[in-house]
Amino acid sequence: MDNWIFEYNRIEDKDFKPFFNMLLNLFREYFGDDIMSKENCTLQNFVDDNYPRLSCDGNKLFIKTTVGLIDSPLQSGCQYDYRMYVFQMAHELMHYAIMQQFAEGSCVDWFEETLCEAMAFIGLEYTMNKYFSRRPIVTRETRENLKSYLEKAMTEDQHSVLESCSTLETLSEINRHYAQGDNRSAQTKERIFIYSLLSEHSQQARILLNYRQYVEPNKLLIDFDKWIRDCPDGIAFLNEVRTIQPIISGAS
Ligand SMILES: [Zn+2]
Repeated sequence: MDNWIFEYNRIEDKDFKPFFNMLLNLFREYFGDDIMSKENCTLQNFVDDNYPRLSCDGNKLFIKTTVGLIDSPLQSGCQYDYRMYVFQMAHELMHYAIMQQFAEGSCVDWFEETLCEAMAFIGLEYTMNKYFSRRPIVTRETRENLKSYLEKAMTEDQHSVLESCSTLETLSEINRHYAQGDNRSAQTKERIFIYSLLSEHSQQARILLNYRQYVEPNKLLIDFDKWIRDCPDGIAFLNEVRTIQPIISGAS
């Protein structure tokens, strides 16, 4: 884990570390040690920043989270919103994993953001379950917070802008919203669908890291036929994943 560098801005930031370590273990299980220890990455949190991101400054890679403080009645004071940390960090770690597998090539935002959101749910669930581990890293209060956040996300109104999309123009517009991190776009049934799929087939998750190799020239669609041909072990899994891709009339 030497490639993960914590840069603390506030003394409390050290409390993020156990949560990060849990997530790193999860990502190693899903995507392999080689992927998760490939490139150095500096971790920072900025309470007042606008949005979390994986970014490259010069030739240094950063994950910047934007987690704020919440009231903690049980601890009579404020603490970081750890569920937000877990959600943001797992999302950005998925971007990191995809980038390590295939840095070149185009990114299809509607697809990649869906994968990252799905892994954020997996991260929340995993962290929550770690409450039962020997070391009391996660307090009961934090666990309850994580649980209610997850349940709320699962039951809230899910919509799909992708389902009714049938032209490249519309898909391009949708893609732009995803790229801008538009919240309403992110809260879709597709992320819940991929989350369920990944929960059941964690051993196949690594296949997803290859998607950038199959981006079509229009940079909006993924060539699943070719992907499936190249990956005979993942046929059933990829056929499920492809159901979230809009069917565009006239597209190859
Ligand atoms: Zn993202």
